[in-house]
Amino acid sequence: MAYSLAMNVAGAEEARIMWFRRDLRVHDLPALTEAAAGARILPCFVFDERLLTGGRFVSPARVGFNLGCLDNLRDTLRDLGADLFVRHGEPETVLPALAEQAGATQVHWSADVSPWAGWRDRRVTAALEAAGIAAVPHPGSYIVDDPGSIVSGKGTPYAVYSPFFKAWKEVKRRPLEESPGRIDCPESIDPGRIPTLAELGLDAGTFETSFEPGESAAREAVRSYLNGGLSGYADTRNSPAGGSSRLSPYIRWGCLSPLELELKLGLREGSGPAVFRKELAWREFYASVLLNFPEVTTTEFQERYRGTLDWQVDGELLEAWKQGMTGYPLVDAGMRELLNDGWIHNRVRMVVASFLTKDLHIDWREGESWFMERLVDGDIASNNGGWQWVTSVGTDPAPYFQRMFNPMTQQERFDPDGEYVRRWVPELRTVPDEHLVRPWLMSGEEQEAASCRIGSDYPEPVIDHAEERRIAVERYRAAAGGKES
Ligand SMILES: Cc1cc2nc3c(=O)[nH]c(=O)nc-3n(C[C@H](O)[C@H](O)[C@H](O)COP(=O)(O)OP(=O)(O)OC[C@H]3O[C@@H](n4cnc5c(N)ncnc54)[C@H](O)[C@@H]3O)c2cc1C
Repeated sequence: MAYSLAMNVAGAEEARIMWFRRDLRVHDLPALTEAAAGARILPCFVFDERLLTGGRFVSPARVGFNLGCLDNLRDTLRDLGADLFVRHGEPETVLPALAEQAGATQVHWSADVSPWAGWRDRRVTAALEAAGIAAVPHPGSYIVDDPGSIVSGKGTPYAVYSPFFKAWKEVKRRPLEESPGRIDCPESIDPGRIPTLAELGLDAGTFETSFEPGESAAREAVRSYLNGGLSGYADTRNSPAGGSSRLSPYIRWGCLSPLELELKLGLREGSGPAVFRKELAWREFYASVLLNFPEVTTTEFQERYRGTLDWQVDGELLEAWKQGMTGYPLVDAGMRELLNDGWIHNRVRMVVASFLTKDLHIDWREGESWFMERLVDGDIASNNGGWQWVTSVGTDPAPYFQRMFNPMTQQERFDPDGEYVRRWVPELRTVPDEHLVRPWLMSGEEQEAASCRIGSDYPEPVIDHAEERRIAVERYRAAAGGKES
């Protein structure tokens, strides 16, 4: 991530473009502040087919959330005296043309970490420069300016989280940016309309997430979390029924500045804020991994697991997992939360990912892409990092048998009263507590009494966890050349 020197001295008539991407806010956004300093700006968003319908991870659910964020951003920009200019096409073509129309001499944006974004931004930069327009990337998507530049004393990037965290917390932070009080916009250019999902060629079916999109909702969610749940976060964060912040969609879409969030945490006492900050640092760690080891998007970080784990191909089992029909209540609750809300609690992400890769022995890439299709917070760096971590093939390694999650004991521990499972698996709502972890052990009479017949109302377990765990240990041991880790 390279940033150009700030160029904030503008002539009175100068115009600039602020190109929004996944930084859909006006608070603490260096690209916006810099672009707007003394110049008229044209804030724009470009719908790029290559990402929307042609990319690796097409997601009507996430694009729907994106559209909602754009609606909110446009309202905010209008309140500030400007607008959001919406265009369609490849930014390397659209932006020079828009710059010419507006008489703009600079295009500002917030740098991104994915290999594809890097490729696109290089093309945009070349096209702008060829037209005599300056391309000006900025920090703002992460707490530190450039997570990828954090290296060990030997000058190598970190592949383990703890030393990364130690180094990361010492990195000097930039000052917070003021949000502009007013934005002057070039007149007589058509702002264009924010399209519907259908106009973009996407169909989310009946999907509707409970997360309200946009910066206004994000700031409200932060306010309420900082004054409420945060103080108990260290104890409650593993509870899927509630207990974590649920801020990830907002952080993913840049509706929140992670740096502003960190500074607010710093003003609060107790273990909650400190533990929360460590979680934010995981996101920065995975950004650094993606910047330094872009090959992880297609292959295992650990060389010995590349092509050596014998993955099972089983469409029926994969579908049972996707639809939340495995017969294991915690797994099914998580997968249905994903289907219906576009989000899953972190503890349950780990459980369902372990179930796919170590109980069903299905390739982690299948899970990675299903998550990317359904998650409103779907993020290539964190998602790939999370999948490789659970599958024991990635960075921050640990012996593979330490990351084999038992879906039953996890449910007993983290959803002891069944609130989460009952919320997402209605067939199990009237199953008594003592049977909620292993409903298949209910007698015929008990099934009748609970209105939950196993095999018809709710599936039998698709596999036997203890047996599949044994097989997974063998598979991993063989792939690791007989070693225990
Ligand atoms: C298999 C798998 C896939 C994942 N895919 C994604 C993804 O696509 N997008 C995504 O944002 N997170 C992903 N995560 C990380 C984590 O599950 C979510 O960030 C978290 O559940 C979001 O809920 P929250 O906002 O309540 O988190 P909180 O516990 O309140 O944490 C606060 C913030 O810290 C960050 N964070 C917390 N844990 C992690 C982590 N392990 N890795 C990276 N960032 C973290 C998130 O931005 C989160 O919003 C994945 C984890 C796993 C195991």
